[in-house]
Amino acid sequence: MTATPLVKNRQLYIDGVWVDSAGGKKLGVVNPATEETIAEVSFGGRADAAKAVAAASAALPAWMKLTPYDRAKVLKKTADLMRERADALARTMTMEQGKPVVEAKGEVMHSADTFEWFAEEGKRAYGQVIPPANAQKRHLTIKHPVGVVGAIGPWNFPITLQSRKIAPALAAGCTIVCKPASQTPLSLIGIFECLIDAGLPKGVANMVIGSASETSDEFMQNPAVRKISFTGSTAVGKQLMRQAADQVKRLSLELGGHAPFIVFPDADPEVVAKAAVLGKFRNNGQVCISPSRFFVHKDISKKFTEVAVEEAKKLKMGNGLEEGVVVGPMFEKKAMDGTQALIDDAKGKGASILTGGCRSKRFDKGYFFEPTVLSGLSSDAKILTEEPFAPVMPVLDFSKIDDVIAQANNTVYGLAAYVFTNDISVAWRMAEGLEAGIIGLNDPVPATPQCPFGGMKESGMGRELAHEGLEAYLETKYVSMMLR
Ligand code: NAP
Repeated sequence: MTATPLVKNRQLYIDGVWVDSAGGKKLGVVNPATEETIAEVSFGGRADAAKAVAAASAALPAWMKLTPYDRAKVLKKTADLMRERADALARTMTMEQGKPVVEAKGEVMHSADTFEWFAEEGKRAYGQVIPPANAQKRHLTIKHPVGVVGAIGPWNFPITLQSRKIAPALAAGCTIVCKPASQTPLSLIGIFECLIDAGLPKGVANMVIGSASETSDEFMQNPAVRKISFTGSTAVGKQLMRQAADQVKRLSLELGGHAPFIVFPDADPEVVAKAAVLGKFRNNGQVCISPSRFFVHKDISKKFTEVAVEEAKKLKMGNGLEEGVVVGPMFEKKAMDGTQALIDDAKGKGASILTGGCRSKRFDKGYFFEPTVLSGLSSDAKILTEEPFAPVMPVLDFSKIDDVIAQANNTVYGLAAYVFTNDISVAWRMAEGLEAGIIGLNDPVPATPQCPFGGMKESGMGRELAHEGLEAYLETKYVSMMLR
């Protein structure tokens, strides 16, 4: 039986109304577990994006004049509604994205916490009083919302990653136009249904499901849009950076990653291997902070690898709506083909496949790929340099701390890194030596609303969440006053 998504709407949301796209186009949303089309949504283009930007511009003066306390009421109510509707939102996300419903529900709850946290943090957009060097002068800074924001998000965390933009933007007094990934629009529709029922004034947040290039061209070329917040691939992020130069748009970029997972010999290989498998195969490795290069000290790598293989074999795979499933399908066929190509390349360069290594033969339909563990990798295997975004665990040995720091940093990415040790000196040396914006010390799941999330190097620019995530939507105005 075909399951039905549990959000009500299927249109764009512009200026306080659900509307069809100007061109009348529709897009089918496909369930990656069944390959069935589960919904048809309106699919817009440049004209719709322009209408949404105009609505956000018109709504800006009144929204920014509200006190943060009044804006917080809408955000807090949104958080409450997301929690109330968590089961329906999670099932909808599972149907369009593939992840198991337990994971999807965790994502909804994390996103509700994000709305609640920014509702409060908006009240702390403090300026400063700065001591003068001239006795006749007084100096201070005040915070001002950036203005209209264009937000573009990916498919792998369709609720979390839009929440990290909408909540701080609205808390700061900005208005916003959101574009979801085309294949996961229903999750964003679900967030908007919560915002609307929470009392969102018309025009303050708008949603355009539509052509990526047309929407982003409108964001880039319309002077009313003052900031773009993008989460997605490094390749698109670089393109947006170039385009943003023309009007000096503010940019926040959350891009790709290739996280090292480093295990020192004093760590328990069995315990850490179990944590590694859960971390690696969450959402099939389609996670920007997914551990994707496993450096294990040579004294414990045999035990670690044996346990990792056993645990990977035990993971229950299936349609994410079914009870007990911990690994769903990959997101699309292209993702499976890319995974296979990386494995074939590694194998061709001498790697051994310890488990998995191919599309699952247990399913007639759906993009199911066997959780894979590789060893014996050559340093020129593509999987060690290209972001894999795949359910593949390459295990490598190391012996010296300086060597492992150098290997871990030998990538253009710098998003997350994980270190497992009980030695506090080793932990500090690693935290200081690794080029990554997020470091989990014995912590495989570090993301939380009150702490900054973002990358170094080609993993991005700026930070989401935490106070930095609010600052990203604020300008600092400096006011200097001469006394008479
Ligand atoms: P993507 O291809 O860059 O797409 C992301 C979003 O950008 C989608 O909404 C997409 O729209 C849109 N887009 C595509 N081409 C565009 C263009 N030329 N101009 C403007 N927008 C464009 O990335 P993805 O494959 O969906 O997502 C996976 C990537 O996101 C990975 O690299 C992952 O590491 C990264 N990511 C980073 C973070 C982080 O916080 N650092 C979090 C999650 C994911 P359509 O869907 O309509 O094509």
